[in-house]
Amino acid sequence: MNIKQTADRHIANTYARYPLALVKGQGCTVWDDQGRAYVDFLAGIAVCNLGHSHPRLVETLTEQARTLWHVSNLFYTQPQAELAVWLTEHSFADRVFFANSGAEANEAAIKLARRYFKENGSPERYRIVSMQQSFHGRTMATLSATGQEKVRKGYDPILEGFDFVPFNDIEDLSCAIGPATCAVMLEPIQGEGGVVIPERDYLAQVRQLCDEKGCLLIFDEVQTGVGRTGKLFAYEHFGVRPDILTLAKALGNGLPIGAMLATERAAAAFVPGAHASTFGGTPLVTAVALEVLKLLTEEGILDQVEEKGAYLRARLADLKKKHPVIQSVRGKGLLIGAQLDVPGASIVNACMERGYLINCVQEKILRFAPPLIVSRDEIDGLIECIDEVLSVKCKV
Ligand SMILES: *Cc1c(COP(=O)(O)O)cnc(C)c1O
Repeated sequence: MNIKQTADRHIANTYARYPLALVKGQGCTVWDDQGRAYVDFLAGIAVCNLGHSHPRLVETLTEQARTLWHVSNLFYTQPQAELAVWLTEHSFADRVFFANSGAEANEAAIKLARRYFKENGSPERYRIVSMQQSFHGRTMATLSATGQEKVRKGYDPILEGFDFVPFNDIEDLSCAIGPATCAVMLEPIQGEGGVVIPERDYLAQVRQLCDEKGCLLIFDEVQTGVGRTGKLFAYEHFGVRPDILTLAKALGNGLPIGAMLATERAAAAFVPGAHASTFGGTPLVTAVALEVLKLLTEEGILDQVEEKGAYLRARLADLKKKHPVIQSVRGKGLLIGAQLDVPGASIVNACMERGYLINCVQEKILRFAPPLIVSRDEIDGLIECIDEVLSVKCKV
């Protein structure tokens, strides 16, 4: 069977896929069906933070598969309870709702924010202020919360009740929060929007505005959470605590799991029957997620993220001096973007041909999000590869 031809014929045509069929992964390397190896600087888009097929995760997964995969949320299970304890002990939150993806975690956050005000005597407050260039998911509510036209196109009428302001502009945000606003929702660092870092004090000012105006603050940490930026949660860099926070991507290192974390005060609006998910927090995925978090924090992996990220950024900054096509390099931990002054697609493809997987967001921004276990040698290899690609391109 030719995987590509068969897939192109029978799978919904929603992805512009790279011409690669991947069959195996180990650590930071994946292999295609021709046996070619690629160093994975994308990690399933910030998902496989501990790399592919980590032996301890394989062990946890198979052990739990032999024990109990799934029961309804009508029953208690130990892995789910333990994961909730771990997450609340290591964060601002008191309670967790488990879902299966980032979009679903955000759905839960949006529903909770609205319900909170219904329960607390302000039913007129239902609007959410979100950011331009944000990304919150592909369900109807989360695409309605997403500040990118290309994500919303074709789905009118989208869900009512979302207002958009530019990221990093506190004045505009202040004007946008009105008497009907229930929450401000944002990514502490915008991922799909092009690795956009908040300006100093911006998030603290957002927190202050929310407190003054009595609305909830939701951080979408689906991409930035679980160690990606060098802290367990990106909000820790900025000394700002949200009322609600969402996780997904790296939480299961590739198993589908999402989570919405909330303070006791906010979470109180979720009562029996208010929200639910058949698969959310199944013992199989929560057992693996708990092991992911333990590995990340107990094996010193998290401690090395800032240093590795600084090294990759410094090496990219060296490349910038040599290749003016790179305009700037930015990021936090191992979520890194390189702004180009030309479209990045051909560079991504040329890197792929040389055995390195990266991707491009917002057309001109190369994004790097390798497994957090990436080595210096692997970083050096990528830099050499990009250097070569840009040298060839400049000669043409
Ligand atoms: C990927 C992403 C989502 C959507 O997650 P899915 O699991 O694809 O639904 C939401 N928010 C952010 C910030 C993301 O990066």
